[in-house]
Amino acid sequence: MALGARPARPSGRPAVANLETVVFDVGETLVDETSLWERAADSAGVPRFTLMGVLGGLAVRGEPHTRVWELVGRPRPETAFAAADLYPDARPCLERLRGTYRTGAVGNTGVETEELLRPLVDFVGSSARWGVEKPSPAFFARLVAEAGTRPERIAYVGDRVDNDIVPALAAGLVAVHVRRGPWGLLHEAPPGAIRIDSLDELPAKLPSSGRRRRPLDARSG
Ligand SMILES: [Mg+2]
Repeated sequence: MALGARPARPSGRPAVANLETVVFDVGETLVDETSLWERAADSAGVPRFTLMGVLGGLAVRGEPHTRVWELVGRPRPETAFAAADLYPDARPCLERLRGTYRTGAVGNTGVETEELLRPLVDFVGSSARWGVEKPSPAFFARLVAEAGTRPERIAYVGDRVDNDIVPALAAGLVAVHVRRGPWGLLHEAPPGAIRIDSLDELPAKLPSSGRRRRPLDARSG
């Protein structure tokens, strides 16, 4: 490429050359939600198959999954993720990336999920603490502010095209679609996203040496 020329990037091909930070969604990205929904069904007295089926229907309809409680006619029970819910590929992926990138975990979750994930990444956040939910552009603006770098130097990894991939791309981030969970399998990511089937594939999709900066909240241990 000639000096001063703009880097050629075919339309739809993600650019990751200057990546500094990799931020993960939580549900169905780092965490397997199966047990959480089973506990929720049992707690509400709804057959597990009914709850899972209605959730799938809402995913296809493009309606908020929170409508499930209205449809089954039960109040929403209190539920929270546990450390045992982490997908087997989550910890190994985060450990491999932490030497190269600043890492974060931020999703539409309660504040208690931040504590579960805090030991695994450089920074955490939640819709509950931030007071804004995906897919709002304000959520991704807050994420960029927390990361402390330019949007194009941040990758956001998520399972949901509507909540994660489309708004991340709109905010100028690199978007990585992990194809798992009901939403991840039912919805097709746009060509501008990197696609993976598990987090084991993620490190190879990113540059081998990121532009890692000193973590803003460096801690001992
Ligand atoms: Mg998710």
